Amino acid sequence: MFRRSRLIAATMVAGVAGTLIAVTGTSYAQTAPSPGSPGLGDRLYPMLGNGGYDVQNYDLSLFHRTKNPKQTVSGDVTITAEATQSLSRFNLDFTGDQVAAVSVNGRPADFARSGSELTVTPRQHLPAGRRFTVTVAGFTATPAPPGPDSMMGFLTTPDGTVLAGQPEASQRLFPNNNHPRDKATYTISVTGPVGWTGTASGVLQHTRSRNGYVTSTYRESHPMASELVQVAVGDFVVKRRAPVGRTAIRDVVPRRLAADLLPRLDQERAQLAWMERKIGPYPFENYGSLVVAVELGGALETQTLSLYDAGLFADEHADEASAIMAHELAHHWFGNSVSPWSWTDIWLNEGHAHFYELLHQDEAGKFQESFGAPDRETYFKAVYGMSNRLRTEHGPVGAPPDATSFFHVFNPNVYLGGALVLYALQEKIGAATFAQVQRAWVSSYRGKSASTQDFIALASRVAGEDLDPFLTGWLYGAETPPMPGHPDWTVT
Ligand SMILES: [Zn+2]
Repeated sequence: MFRRSRLIAATMVAGVAGTLIAVTGTSYAQTAPSPGSPGLGDRLYPMLGNGGYDVQNYDLSLFHRTKNPKQTVSGDVTITAEATQSLSRFNLDFTGDQVAAVSVNGRPADFARSGSELTVTPRQHLPAGRRFTVTVAGFTATPAPPGPDSMMGFLTTPDGTVLAGQPEASQRLFPNNNHPRDKATYTISVTGPVGWTGTASGVLQHTRSRNGYVTSTYRESHPMASELVQVAVGDFVVKRRAPVGRTAIRDVVPRRLAADLLPRLDQERAQLAWMERKIGPYPFENYGSLVVAVELGGALETQTLSLYDAGLFADEHADEASAIMAHELAHHWFGNSVSPWSWTDIWLNEGHAHFYELLHQDEAGKFQESFGAPDRETYFKAVYGMSNRLRTEHGPVGAPPDATSFFHVFNPNVYLGGALVLYALQEKIGAATFAQVQRAWVSSYRGKSASTQDFIALASRVAGEDLDPFLTGWLYGAETPPMPGHPDWTVT
């Protein structure tokens, strides 16, 4: 994600199958059935996600009964998963309103709710290594406006509802295994009154009308983290654009603002072509922008349909809009296709997205207007100068201090310091080798989740040298190491 005001102000000088871990063939010890863990033990968000199973697919249906953007919506979700231990019971994450019924393998199951945990107890235990389905039927959720401290949530806007799930808010709309370590494919069906449009991450499969309602069904066939799911339902129009290579392009905007907004979004096509030249093929089937008429104060890389607010596209923010669009697009390689193993690894998302955002604006000749510095080197020199202060105030680049606030995790050092680490790596191993590292990263871990240690190991392998001491200092040190090739750069 990208928080506009805070980050830009801080930077003015002077962000398939692969994950279905082929469990087939894996053998599990058949021990006595026990409860799955209620959390994955993430250092920052220990209760997000759940242990004991690996989700492979979500089949999610949502129903908007009227044309009221504030209405409570209802839905059903069927999750196909594989037990990774012998399970007596297991948890899902859900903070919506109500749950009507739960079944496992088609049979009614007991369930209980406590905080964000939805605990499901099947009639019979689930053997390790066996595939099962769990259906949560008749759940309900009520959208809320974005709050002053976070844009994230199941959001109401003047024109309909959208989802901004990072890092935990997707569970406000639907029950899921809410951690980017467990990605899955999705089928999403949205039903609303005729005249409203339902869109979602992935590719439109079909649209059906019946009794005054329209159901649109989308398929995301590439693994997606729950935090990146987008579902937008309301008085929106969908604009299809010419594809970029094989990537279909579609934008979604409020109908009443379409004439003004749509021309401002077309630049995503050139940006996508630019990113493919830099880093390799776009990893999904389609891309586009979703713009809502409520102030978010930021943007979010929801998969295949990045989320922005209309205020970003005012004339006076044109350079900022271009930069943030490049940032959210870059996330589709860094964060969406290659997801963080844990939230501690968030610099892998935001450092990379900021790095390519800077590079894009530089090569587009918009650097000064976007970042208040003449070029990237000047910018990084200034960030280097403040880097110890960033570490002191926000923790090391690779270890945000805690999650008591959203902005302790998504803090300026993750963005600025993260991009600076990548710049330091480029200066150390040279631009050509650095480019090989980046391309190897997005191809080796495409559709998977990977950690900072995975990045260090891959960079070392590609560069042919042990980069662990170098990157460990840059990522976890209390003080910023010397910048390779710039002995004159000093920390102030
Ligand atoms: Zn970001």
